[in-house]
Amino acid sequence: MNENIIKIDNLKVYFPIRRGIFLQTFGYIKAIDGINIEINKNQDISVVGESGSGKTTLGKSMVGLIKPTGGKILYNFNGKTFDMSKQLPIDVRQSIQMIFQDPFSSLNPRLKIIDTLKEPLEIRKLFRSKKEMIDYLGELLEKVGLKREHLYRYPHEFSGGQRQRISIVRAISMKPNVIVLDEPTSSLDVSVQSQVLNLLQDIKKEYNLTYVFITHNISVAKYMGQKIIVMYLGKIVEINDADKLIEKPFHPYTQLLLSTVVEIKSEHAEKEVKIGEPPSPVNIPSGCRFRTRCPFAMEICAKKDPPLSDHEGSLVACHLYSNQKKEISVNNS
Ligand code: SF4
Repeated sequence: MNENIIKIDNLKVYFPIRRGIFLQTFGYIKAIDGINIEINKNQDISVVGESGSGKTTLGKSMVGLIKPTGGKILYNFNGKTFDMSKQLPIDVRQSIQMIFQDPFSSLNPRLKIIDTLKEPLEIRKLFRSKKEMIDYLGELLEKVGLKREHLYRYPHEFSGGQRQRISIVRAISMKPNVIVLDEPTSSLDVSVQSQVLNLLQDIKKEYNLTYVFITHNISVAKYMGQKIIVMYLGKIVEINDADKLIEKPFHPYTQLLLSTVVEIKSEHAEKEVKIGEPPSPVNIPSGCRFRTRCPFAMEICAKKDPPLSDHEGSLVACHLYSNQKKEISVNNS
């Protein structure tokens, strides 16, 4: 039976826009605007979207770094359900880890690697002696292709790829159940990106982890996820199994993302979806928020926000596939 490990229920994250000497609120950036996701244990989810889609805010909310404005993120830890926005026991908090895009800024440049890695382990008192802990960390470093003696070096002595390997060690050292990975390879040289992705796949299998992989690159999303969630301006616009979504994307925005990847160009886009720029998240278009870039936009698209609904096994938020569109076509015919 598939066991739910994370359940996101109508999540909203709004950031106030403040101006003036009294920092009055002039509006909100709706970084996440009412999304629902269920993730099963050991399922790999990729979240894909451009900058400003809300995917990083989603990742940070999942590990409790950002408090929701509305809705809930529920986390199933050893059969008990925890609300990620609340104060959590340390073992629960540490069992969801996050790996960030820039490994350099996530490592303290003034601390040797050993000092960065040992801190969370000491809080948990997981080891009987310092030697036991150092042996453990040394083994993990070797597992990711580094050396034990690297424990005594500083972050600036490593390449970007090596620093990301250290970030991976820091995450797995706490024996997590879930890791949220926010563009973990996008700051690395192309030559080392695939090495790190392969390492992450091996680590996942060995430690029986659930990954939530955040990326702007839909081909990386396919490689890392069994299921892909496509986000646009704070909303989910399509969810499907990775293979099916790549083979037959329905939402025009998913088609746009695919059209930017040479090796998996969509053959299903009837009209070319122009890349363009997403609108400002401060001024989100009415109705479907993709309508200002969509070549299929209809009258209803400006009036009604399309809900996610099932279309040939994919969940798609688009009036092209909704009953309203069918009703309009019938009325116009
Ligand atoms: Fe395009 Fe309308 Fe579908 Fe939005 S709802 S993606 S504007 S066709």
